Amino acid sequence: MGVDAFANWLRDAANTLHENAAYLTELDSAIGDADHGSNMDRGFTAVVALLDETTFETPDELMKKAGMTLVSKVGGASGPLYGTFFLRLGTALAGVEITPATVGEALKAGVGGILARGKAELNDKTMYDAWAPALDAYDEAVAGGSDLGGALVAAAEAAAKGRDATIPLVARKGRASYLGERSAGHQDPGATSTTLLLESAARTLG
Ligand code: ADP
Ligand code: MG
Ligand code: MG
Repeated sequence: MGVDAFANWLRDAANTLHENAAYLTELDSAIGDADHGSNMDRGFTAVVALLDETTFETPDELMKKAGMTLVSKVGGASGPLYGTFFLRLGTALAGVEITPATVGEALKAGVGGILARGKAELNDKTMYDAWAPALDAYDEAVAGGSDLGGALVAAAEAAAKGRDATIPLVARKGRASYLGERSAGHQDPGATSTTLLLESAARTLG
């Protein structure tokens, strides 16, 4: 598997984020500043423009450049967080063969970047509440003999459960934390976009 599969992932993600932009923004209007959908849509539209104008030789090159594009085009919390995710994912993929194990390590490195930047812990009602169970499910699937596609499906399903589990939580990071107890009862927008990204990965990689 090569760079084309990763390019397909980014294109599919851009489509699904565009289709869900109004939904993501509606979620963010309840506990944030009503821009998560437009932030993600703008960022991934720029990533698709990058794919259209540049030829990438390797997945790591593409992932790193996509990360830099997200950092520069998306403001707020999610731009640097997702940007760092793709930068570190790309760095971890440099020079390695793409296997379920190496992709798992790269996803872990990417999420490590989200944590380094955002300092979130589990149950802070952030995107990490979708990423953490996704990484666990991915590893479990690989340990059980799953191929890449199967492990990504397991990760996406776990992310969706983590996303749903953000609803009752009180936010402790990001804008939603300014609301205190009033943030409870709403689904976290970032955990929702993370689930969309992983569902897209499951459709396109593997
Ligand atoms: P902003 O809040 O700056 O407007 P977005 O609306 O694009 O940025 O993104 C909001 C999402 O970012 C939240 O729903 C949450 O999932 C995520 N987020 C915010 N702060 C953090 C953090 N410190 N660590 C991890 N994720 C965070
Ligand atoms: Mg916002
Ligand atoms: Mg904002």
